[in-house]
Amino acid sequence: MLTQHTGWTNAARAVAELRRRRLLTPRRLAAAPERQLARVIRAAGTYRLKARRLAAFTRWLLERHGASFRGLRRAPLLPLRRELLGLPGLGPETADAILLYAADRPVFVADAYVRRVLGRHRLVDLAAPYETVRGFLEAHLPSDPALYNEYHALLVAVGKTHCRSVPRCAGCPLRADLRGRPPAG
Ligand code: SF4
Repeated sequence: MLTQHTGWTNAARAVAELRRRRLLTPRRLAAAPERQLARVIRAAGTYRLKARRLAAFTRWLLERHGASFRGLRRAPLLPLRRELLGLPGLGPETADAILLYAADRPVFVADAYVRRVLGRHRLVDLAAPYETVRGFLEAHLPSDPALYNEYHALLVAVGKTHCRSVPRCAGCPLRADLRGRPPAG
């Protein structure tokens, strides 16, 4: 949630500040006044909005799952995803990142890096929406959170290092998969 619309460095500074003030547990986050929370996470940008969203999420976690991610690991997946998507500021990418990385559920995070790599390799349309790309990956991979976790991290690494807005295919580990064709788009 903190990394929405900002770089990871800024989000990490906000997390470090939360940790420094011993606020990095769902119960303490939920109990913290929103204005205080906003000041603490200032480094993450749009901090009032993010404080409101963080408070709403932690309250939900507290009320529905006793402030523990264990409940998220056991709850039926589709209703749980729908609930997360109903929380303020939680789009599919953030909801799926929570499900995969925090709750260890088999949901692929089809973020912009992933969509770009798959699109350029003609596996999906370059303009395919989030849910289409997520569905494609989940239909073609074993339903395994550890695999999704690693696969997503590797695609992000490729996206950051090589598959940027102008692709740097020379030296990219996925270059052979293009089979001599230029990237789509
Ligand atoms: S080979 Fe080119 S198009 Fe494919 S992922 Fe690498 S940089 Fe992107």
